[in-house]
Amino acid sequence: MAQSTPDPSKIAKGKCPICGDPTEYEQRPFCSRRCANIDLYKWLSNGYAIAGKADEDEDGDDANAAAPPSGARPAGGDEGED
Ligand SMILES: [Zn+2]
Repeated sequence: MAQSTPDPSKIAKGKCPICGDPTEYEQRPFCSRRCANIDLYKWLSNGYAIAGKADEDEDGDDANAAAPPSGARPAGGDEGED
């Protein structure tokens, strides 16, 4: 049992989309965790840039218009509730 044949399922099949290095099985489709993080970061910053901007504007306007004044609660809870 001295086979030196590598496990077929562990052979890299593609290239890292970030740097072009051979894909690492455990990090596919990237070659390393670093490249995976780079891609993830790109993704997130792109998505947040769009969603964050629109959200910020709407939220700010809405909060200002619909925000009730602090301490506007109806006072007087002693009307024999019990
Ligand atoms: Zn890479």
